[in-house]
Amino acid sequence: MSTSQHTNAALPADTCIFNKTDQGAPRVPLLIGGAFIASQGQELHAVRNPATQEILAYTPFATAEEVERALQTASKAYQTWRHTSLQVRSGIFWRYQQLIRDNMEQLAALLCREQGKTLADAHGDIQRGLEVVEQAANIGHWQMGAIAQNIAGGVDTHTHLSPIGVCVGITPFNFPAMIPLWMFPLAIACGNTFVLKPSEQDPLVTMRLCELAMQAGLPPGVLNVVHGGAEVVRQLCNHALVAAVSFVGSSRVGQIVHREASLAGKRVQCMMGAKNHAVLLPDAVCEASLNQIVGAAFGAAGQRCMALSVLLTVGAARDWLPLLVEKARQLRLNAGHEAGADLGPLITPQARDRVCQLIARGQAQGARLLLDGRSASAPGYAQGNFVGPTILADVSCEMAVYQEEIFGPVLCVMQLDTLEQAIAIINANPHGNGVALFTQSGAAARQFQHEVEVGQIGVNVPIPVPSPLFSFTGSRASKLGDLGPYGPQAIAFYTQTKTITTRWLHATQTAPANTTIGLG
Ligand code: NAD
Repeated sequence: MSTSQHTNAALPADTCIFNKTDQGAPRVPLLIGGAFIASQGQELHAVRNPATQEILAYTPFATAEEVERALQTASKAYQTWRHTSLQVRSGIFWRYQQLIRDNMEQLAALLCREQGKTLADAHGDIQRGLEVVEQAANIGHWQMGAIAQNIAGGVDTHTHLSPIGVCVGITPFNFPAMIPLWMFPLAIACGNTFVLKPSEQDPLVTMRLCELAMQAGLPPGVLNVVHGGAEVVRQLCNHALVAAVSFVGSSRVGQIVHREASLAGKRVQCMMGAKNHAVLLPDAVCEASLNQIVGAAFGAAGQRCMALSVLLTVGAARDWLPLLVEKARQLRLNAGHEAGADLGPLITPQARDRVCQLIARGQAQGARLLLDGRSASAPGYAQGNFVGPTILADVSCEMAVYQEEIFGPVLCVMQLDTLEQAIAIINANPHGNGVALFTQSGAAARQFQHEVEVGQIGVNVPIPVPSPLFSFTGSRASKLGDLGPYGPQAIAFYTQTKTITTRWLHATQTAPANTTIGLG
């Protein structure tokens, strides 16, 4: 089977993405008021397969009128959706999780084709989002308020978690299934309506997931999708009808979104860039730890906000570097859909060039190149944006490879003498998304988790992204806003707590005038 046949077979022919009249590659539709419609926007972004450069579709940037219509539609739908019973809301998300499971292969193939990650990792992308859909399906449990009797004589107090209105989600390219699923299912299950602005780079699987959500029974207007860039995002962040903005993406854009939406009075959460360290102690289980580090550094070609991008070896653990290099060298680089691929291409040729330039800068600034992936390629995919696993040792904190988020398959290694030095380096780094320690020592692990200032900490777990029983808890420069994007914190983000204090009097009872602040 030729490459082209293989990838075409992966495309679902019966989805909204192909309801089009244009010639050539389809235009990605908008979703407004329950209908997948063609945008009148003139600016188009080509969605390319990163392994072949084949144009899969064009993302049209929505016009201001279309964004306005999406927001007005969401606002109108909110007036009825907010009163919809928990049972109905929950039922929709139970059906939705089943529809995602039923379409898993198709979704993964589509994701792999437009984003480049391996098929196995594409399944993981959807699976981690599915966990949040299951949280939404259990919304009854998460919507429980609190009650206390006899706060004062004959006075009771209880709380409601009420929806807040129209919520907006802005998502990045690297998890086109998981991150939209972090956002709209919970927002909607809480009684809000939603306008999603997916990444223009790979919106196809996102649109297919939205189509399945509509099939699961979401009423028209409850979920809407517009595409675009800075202009569309600015309009969303500043619009009077919007109550909350959830953003996941780069630090540069996240800071803009946080500033604009906060100034406009919105509730905002921005999950942003990262530099995640792994600390390897000499008492760690060598083979298993190195396997974990290699997987987390180079999986998804390093394009994960939780990728391990810095390895801090402590003491004699530095002697394991040749083994680490050998393991990294053995990873197979290929188009994501090819059997046995361990990592695929980067999202664009520009991303590839940037990563290669950073590697060169690292070398020029004194880092030692133990493994160079810049000339790596995948047989049959000469046009792919490939960079192979790359390892730089003797890295120091002043180097560009340490200071910038590389977002590629590049691991920077610093060789240290003590755990305390490692903790000091991690805490001096502005980012606080994820960190991992490899050790067999409980005492070291305890010290580490108490002293390190990072949101997500793994002990012998390389990518500690929690299940939605807990919240994603990036910190410091990796996050603006207090509340995380799923788990209990997301319920707080997508609801307002109303505190109701009641006194019920029998007709025969009297209550004297109370001129104090006391409840009486
Ligand atoms: P990005 O910031 O370029 O894009 C994110 C979104 O913002 C997209 O929808 C994009 O269209 C929009 N956008 C782009 N430029 C804009 C502008 N000037 N004004 C307003 N909106 C704009 O991010 P990306 O390259 O798609 O994603 C990779 C980044 O996301 C990495 O930095 C990664 O660490 C981060 N990320 C963070 C998390 C987390 O949870 N902390 C998770 C995934 C990705």
